[in-house]
Amino acid sequence: MSEPAPKVIIAGSGPAGYTAAIYLSRANIPNLMYEGLQPGGQLTITTDVENFPGFPEGVLGPELMEKLRAQAARFGTVIKSGNVDAIDCQGPPFTVTAGDQEYEVPAVIIATGSTARYLHLPGEENFHGKGLSACATCDGFFYKDQDVVVVGGGDTALEEATYLSGICRKVTLIHRRDELRGSAIMQERAFEKANIDFAWSRVIKEYLPDDNGLIRGVLTESTKGEGDLEIPCTGCFIAIGHDPNTPFLAGQLELDPNNYIITRPDRTMTSVEGVFACGDVQDPVWRQGVTAAGTGCMAAIECERWLAEKNL
Ligand code: NAP
Repeated sequence: MSEPAPKVIIAGSGPAGYTAAIYLSRANIPNLMYEGLQPGGQLTITTDVENFPGFPEGVLGPELMEKLRAQAARFGTVIKSGNVDAIDCQGPPFTVTAGDQEYEVPAVIIATGSTARYLHLPGEENFHGKGLSACATCDGFFYKDQDVVVVGGGDTALEEATYLSGICRKVTLIHRRDELRGSAIMQERAFEKANIDFAWSRVIKEYLPDDNGLIRGVLTESTKGEGDLEIPCTGCFIAIGHDPNTPFLAGQLELDPNNYIITRPDRTMTSVEGVFACGDVQDPVWRQGVTAAGTGCMAAIECERWLAEKNL
């Protein structure tokens, strides 16, 4: 039996996209999801998730996302791999391009999330896979019993440092200020680890390569004029926040100054009627799995009501 033509295309997976899919499918609205190049999104590169309600013992990020994916598929969401490459927001109908496929749909839900930031130092691109990473869960194992650094002062940096402290010999957290931004509980966990050091008020100014081009250390400078300091390490984990995945929209929707999609107050409708956004791509503030799932639910319900209202 052939699949019904989708009424809604969901761009991106993750808690927002999967939750939107579950709600749309249960409302009997044919929907198609392009799950992106990292199916499940950022939670698939984390370990224990202890703050998603319903899992008193915690749950592994990849396992949680697999459950959400299976739940969406169970109710009929068609899930395809790959990215949505473009959306023509002159509509409805909207033209959605994904690889060599093109669709015309009455509504779109954007749940493309955000991407880890790097430092943009000269030659940084040469160190990917040679000591530089933005994901301790993915790459930490490669630095077993070695010395590593983590850059950042937020929850991500603290989580990465704490995770790495269980694998590596020594972890140095490099932060540009002398006060952390991360939550009290995450700070406490990091402070308790005997093998986590803190390089306060410092930024990396250079990655130092060995003869094979692998990182052998980082050169840091003080933000308080206290001179440079070389920190030997074989791994350097950057954990300084994320950028929303909106470049593919090519300026067709209203974005905030940091390129997050602007949605209407208390709504998921974007500046274009029929195009909805949920999850981290429209949330510079809360950025939690559960808030992403919440806005995914909102997007699906709002989309369903809008389709009904417009008789689409
Ligand atoms: P964040 O809270 O925005 O923190 C980014 C950190 O990187 C800040 O400490 C910032 O320094 C530093 N930074 C930014 N740009 C820098 C640069 N160019 N050079 C050096 N340092 C730089 O980002 P996040 O840690 O990724 O957290 C994002 C959100 O996710 C937060 O709401 C967080 O609570 C949440 N989160 C929660 C969990 C959890 O509960 N398990 C885990 C991870 C993340 P300044 O402090 O000086 O600005």
